[in-house]
Amino acid sequence: MAARRIAVIGSLNIDMITRTSRIPEAGETLTAESFDTGFGGKGANQAVASARLASNDIKVQMVGNVGNDGFGNDYFEAMEKEGIDGSRVQRVRGQKTGVSVIIVDEATGENRILFTKGANYAFEEVADGSVGKDWDLVPSNADVVVFQLEIPLPVVLHNIKAASEKGKHVIFNPAPASTVPDAAFSHIDTLIMNESESAILSGPTEDHNMPSTEELAAFFLKKGVKDTVIITLGGQGLVYVTKSGESGRVPAKKVKVVDTTAAGDTFVGAYAVARVKDGFSYNAALDFATTAAAKSVERHGAMAAIPYLSDLA
Ligand code: ATP
Repeated sequence: MAARRIAVIGSLNIDMITRTSRIPEAGETLTAESFDTGFGGKGANQAVASARLASNDIKVQMVGNVGNDGFGNDYFEAMEKEGIDGSRVQRVRGQKTGVSVIIVDEATGENRILFTKGANYAFEEVADGSVGKDWDLVPSNADVVVFQLEIPLPVVLHNIKAASEKGKHVIFNPAPASTVPDAAFSHIDTLIMNESESAILSGPTEDHNMPSTEELAAFFLKKGVKDTVIITLGGQGLVYVTKSGESGRVPAKKVKVVDTTAAGDTFVGAYAVARVKDGFSYNAALDFATTAAAKSVERHGAMAAIPYLSDLA
């Protein structure tokens, strides 16, 4: 049987992390404690999560842009090491790879982050309603296609629609939080988001009674989501509802929490792996993604914390 394929369409960034005993004042030069670089971006994180958690009969492909720079080269090497198909990652001339400069104040643990979009946003700009010639990103052989919001919204919306019309299973993780036009919901099969993303995605309301998480999840099904809505609640687990009438809460696994940075991306990548498998069941998929996400919070870092299938045994 041909391998099942997951395509992740989204961002690839380099994280540049400096740890310091305090934040320097304006005009001050301070010697930092340490410096490190890492691969990041929600798209790349989710592709890596899928690749590390997939069995041999599942292939993972990344689709997005890097710059024509050394970081871009590093990314191709990293994808190869992770077993990710990078043939649809474009190296964009005259662009830099997206970068997050992260300063960690060791005394307080607080982060300060400066994100530069770089190549992630290097798509043809067009007048409202038309489509750029470099916007068609959905691989024809993908079974499940995963989207987030760290590339331009019109490009995401165009490809969600295209993927849905080609019969792909569309997983959408609306992060960083944003609203999307109502028409998008009927092209989404699985919507996965955290609580604050769900509040923003649901749009402004004149109703002063806060809806419950269950009501919010059901609201997105009414908006047109075709299969499942999952709202993750950090250490409280998640709430889910399905079009076929299943719903419930799944508690988080009890683990020693070290760093929750990559929990959401690990969850999405793991769910995509469970979704693409034959014999999919909601319970098994939610349990697999919950177990993988819990494993990621036991470790420091973003991509470095994403577990492998063998870690879940
Ligand atoms: P992040 O932005 O930190 O990557 P997120 O806000 O998108 O994450 P969360 O709702 O925090 O997503 O977490 C996703 C899933 O990860 C949860 O549903 C849960 O299964 C798992 N998880 C998160 N935090 C914990 C925790 N403290 N203990 C165990 N599991 C956790």
